[in-house]
Amino acid sequence: MGEPFRVSESGRAAGRIRELVRRIAVEVFGTTETEVPIPGFTVFTDRKLDDPLAGVRAALLMRSVAEAQLYDYARSARAAGRSWDEIGAVLGLSTGGVPVGEEAFDWLVCGRVPDPERKGIRSWRTPSAYWRCTSCDAQVTDDGPFESHPADNETGHTDSCTRHQADIAAWKQRTGWDD
Ligand SMILES: [Zn+2]
Repeated sequence: MGEPFRVSESGRAAGRIRELVRRIAVEVFGTTETEVPIPGFTVFTDRKLDDPLAGVRAALLMRSVAEAQLYDYARSARAAGRSWDEIGAVLGLSTGGVPVGEEAFDWLVCGRVPDPERKGIRSWRTPSAYWRCTSCDAQVTDDGPFESHPADNETGHTDSCTRHQADIAAWKQRTGWDD
């Protein structure tokens, strides 16, 4: 029941994005547009850009803005307590046995395009993501979900941070270890 509705909603949203790209091509990149009839219709027309290169420029701008937003919202999600695995699931990543969270971090923070063939081979040095924890309000350095112990992945939480303490408690439960 809900599924077809969602599909048409996102289809409509995609239409608005295409419309926005076309408008930016006209307003920012200086092309004009021409109304063209849609085959089979007498009343509906489509618009085409007279200089399609302006469309390429507008779409490129849209893409770089959207990519920056992927990163910004992923950082906000991490700050709000979401895991890299949850972010990877939303991104719809499929990996060759590599946890989706690692793949998501590699993509958004390290700038590596997901590659299912890579099978977990990583370079040594990776950049970090930085965000302010919404639990303890401290600045956190997030090195990705690559280590077992939460404190090896995230540094900067206060000692009393409930989120970080919960992560460590879950780790102890999972591993049966005590630090
Ligand atoms: Zn914290």
